[in-house]
Amino acid sequence: MPEAAQRPAVTTRSLQRSINSVATSDGAGVKLRRSIGASPFLRHDPFLMLDEFYSDDPDDYIEGFPAHPHRGFETVTYMLDGRMQHKDSGGNTGDLGPGDVQWMTAARGIVHSEMPQQTEGRMRGFQLWINLPAGEKMKPAAYCDIPSERIPVMQFAAGVEVKVIAGVLGEARGPIHGLSTDPRFYDVRLAPRAVFEAPLPPSHNAFLYAYEGEARVGDARSTLGHRSAGLLSEGDAVRIEAGDAGARVLLLAGIPIGEPIVQYGPFVMNTREEIEQAIADYQSGRFARDRVARIPVAAGG
Ligand code: FE
Repeated sequence: MPEAAQRPAVTTRSLQRSINSVATSDGAGVKLRRSIGASPFLRHDPFLMLDEFYSDDPDDYIEGFPAHPHRGFETVTYMLDGRMQHKDSGGNTGDLGPGDVQWMTAARGIVHSEMPQQTEGRMRGFQLWINLPAGEKMKPAAYCDIPSERIPVMQFAAGVEVKVIAGVLGEARGPIHGLSTDPRFYDVRLAPRAVFEAPLPPSHNAFLYAYEGEARVGDARSTLGHRSAGLLSEGDAVRIEAGDAGARVLLLAGIPIGEPIVQYGPFVMNTREEIEQAIADYQSGRFARDRVARIPVAAGG
C-alpha cells in the first residue's frame, strides 16, 4: 500500500486477547455463536456484539426473529448463504440474499422482524451491533439494504481478496462511510499461507473473527482459532496470515465512544432512566408509530 510505504514507522497490531464464541440461541430459537457481547465484559467499544449463525438444518433457524424492538445503536446483517426477509414498523420490507448487507441505524426506535426465506439448505451470516454516541441515540431510525454487487472487492497480491463493506481500504470505498464511529468492516479471504497487510488508523479499536480456518496475527504470528474473535492491540497497521488451509476473517474497526453503557436486551443507552424510558415508549406503542427512513446506497468502488 502506498500510504504504508511513506510512513517512517509502522506499529503492527498484535493479538491482545482471544474470545472463543459460545453456542447460544436468540429470536425464536435461532442457533448461533456469540463472541463479542457474550457478556457485558466482552464488548469492544464501539462494538457491542457479534453473532455468527450457520446451519444446514432448517430446525436451527426457520423460526427466525419475529417482531422485536431496538433502540440506541446500529445493527449490521451480512448474509453469506441463504435468504432473510425483514419487515419493519415503518412499513418497509426487504429481502437479503447471499453477499448482501443490511445496515440499520435503530437509533430512537424500530420494531422489525428478520425471517429466513427458505425451508431447506444452508443459512449462514453475521449480525454485528455497533453503539451510537449519546447525541445520536435518539435520532430517527433509518436503514439501507446493500446488494452484494454494490460492495467493492479488492484483489491483493497472491491469494488475498477483501470485500469492503464499510470504510475505506486503499483505493476502495465501501458503501457505508461518514458515520461518527468511522467503522471499517472488511471480509478478508486468504488462500493457504497468504498474508494481508494494511494500514488501520491508530484512533480505532479493532478485532478479527476467523469464520473459516484459523489465522496468525501480527508480527508475532499469534494463532487466532477458528470461530474466535481476536481483540487487537493499538497500532497503525494490521497483518493477518492464513494457516495451511486458508482462512476467511472479518476485520472490524471503529472509533471508541467512551461513554457508559446500560443495556437491557435490545435497548442500549447511557443510563438506567433512559432504559426505563425505552421500555415505556415501546410498551405504549411509540416505536411503531415512528417513521423509518430508507437511506440511498452510495456507490461503492
Ligand atoms: Fe433485529
